[in-house]
Amino acid sequence: MIVLKFGGTSVGKPERMRKIAHLVLGTPGKKIVVLSALSGTTNTLVGIGEHLLAGQHAQAEEEIARLEKHYTNFIDELYPSDSHKAIGQEIVSRFFILIRLLAAGQFDDKSYRELLAQGELISTELFYQHLLEQKVSARLLPALYFMSIDENDEPELEKISARLKPLLASLSEIDIIITQGYICRNNKNEIDNLKRGGSDYTASLIGAAIRSEEVQIWTDIDGMHNNDPRIVKKTVPISELTFDEASELAYFGAKILHPSTIVPAQKYNIPVRLKNTLDEKAPGTIITSKGIEGTFKAIAAKDGITAINIRSSRMLMAYGFLRRVFEVFENHKTSIDMITTSEVAVSITIDNNVHLASIETELRKFGVISVDKDQTIICIVGQKITEHKGVLKKIFDSLADIPVRMVSCGGSTNNVSVLVDKQYKDTALNLLNEGLFGLK
Ligand code: ASP
Ligand code: MG
Repeated sequence: MIVLKFGGTSVGKPERMRKIAHLVLGTPGKKIVVLSALSGTTNTLVGIGEHLLAGQHAQAEEEIARLEKHYTNFIDELYPSDSHKAIGQEIVSRFFILIRLLAAGQFDDKSYRELLAQGELISTELFYQHLLEQKVSARLLPALYFMSIDENDEPELEKISARLKPLLASLSEIDIIITQGYICRNNKNEIDNLKRGGSDYTASLIGAAIRSEEVQIWTDIDGMHNNDPRIVKKTVPISELTFDEASELAYFGAKILHPSTIVPAQKYNIPVRLKNTLDEKAPGTIITSKGIEGTFKAIAAKDGITAINIRSSRMLMAYGFLRRVFEVFENHKTSIDMITTSEVAVSITIDNNVHLASIETELRKFGVISVDKDQTIICIVGQKITEHKGVLKKIFDSLADIPVRMVSCGGSTNNVSVLVDKQYKDTALNLLNEGLFGLK
């Protein structure tokens, strides 16, 4: 069995939805098809939810009406037959009755999460009906029957697997099984989700749960690129990546994959293939456990980083100092990305400023604190690059004219990260593109 996941832009227009039906039919063997919401829908649902949480009912209703219109037009174009137009209309009406019901009630966090789930629930129903209209035999398997997270929001892979296997066994004569990305149940059995962009994660969790042959993530770009195509003029797709390389890139800002996607796939050694719906012939990127070592593969950048420097003479030759510093971050449930130390100071970066003020207050107990916001981590990735000679020289030669705030090397052998002020990000990415890949 293989798992095929299609993102929002791949299902976002009626002709695209028809296109992916073709792709699915053209893929031999049994498959589980994971779909995102139509592009823009989850953003709109977030907006509606925020209005409702703020008590702005009129604005929420305006957006609901606009979204409903979008879906009414969508089904009209998607289904050629009158009978299926009527089925589509019934689906859309049903969903919007539910959305308005949620909006009219006591709107709390729980209703918000239920609202967010509607995007994937409707896209999968519309796609399923599209296949039925084409007389294709398929089944819709609700993700809420098997996908779950625990009290720490971590997916429960063993439980997911235990639920999914008998469900699939009961559908053994069906070749195409459709399910929702992103949505799940939490430990209170409420509707919840795997965070924005989580449909990729759903696909790899399913792949791991059923030990599928492969997980394919279909997007609108021809695989992972060596650099950010929005910032650097010339980039190239990378045909092969290792799990380690792909994880680093996804975590440090490559937008193509949800950062946790690789974890379950790597655990059971299931290849992840990135493919382009708009150019199905393009080879894309295959992510596996094997790869060439010692070459630069790609660069990714993560914005919105805050660097915190703690300078303290008490750190001098003291043990236990870093533990107390880390405890402050732990108590505020804030994770640390980069860290560098000298004998009397330590610099730490975080990507979540929610608790910054109280973190700062507590750190002042230890010494003098300075904070730099709007920093960018630039992460240079390649399997075991740090075990090879000349790697740092190449990186720093490329960045010779840029002030570098922090450097991290040696944590993993697969990455060197540098921190720069956001204003230097674009220049740095371009210089590295030229220096490391000869691309200009
Ligand atoms: N629809 C969700 C989002 O926009 C999940 C996904 O597309 O992966 O975040
Ligand atoms: Mg995505």
